[in-house]
Amino acid sequence: MPYTYDDQNIFAKILRGEIPNKTVLETEHSLAFHDIGPQAPVHVLVIPKGPYVSYDHFAREASDAEILDFTRAVGKVCEMTGVTLDEGQGFRAISNAGAHGVQEVPHLHIHILGGRRLGKMLQPE
Ligand code: AMP
Repeated sequence: MPYTYDDQNIFAKILRGEIPNKTVLETEHSLAFHDIGPQAPVHVLVIPKGPYVSYDHFAREASDAEILDFTRAVGKVCEMTGVTLDEGQGFRAISNAGAHGVQEVPHLHIHILGGRRLGKMLQPE
């Protein structure tokens, strides 16, 4: 089943420079920026520059170079924000997808959350 990418989503607009963002890291294939509504002291979103809706879409269709770049960008953001297990006290990486995942923005993003104890993973709606 092919995925349909909506190029009017807010992260596509950020990638085109149409709306501003607080950039943490930019690489050849990825961009990381602060979440506009942080849920924790550290709340950074890491996105691929390519038009991927969700993690499974990316894993299926992205090139090896994009996947390597994105994975390294996630790790680099963890280092830059001080949440790694060697320098900090850990983090949670979340990628919501679709209706059940309660995804608001249909462009793949990984939330990197940390800077405090985050509590149980799932809460009732
Ligand atoms: P999700 O529910 O996983 O799709 O999360 C979307 C996230 O994008 C939310 O945490 C929002 O706060 C965040 N967000 C929405 N618009 C912006 C924006 N312009 N800049 C940064 N983060 C945003």
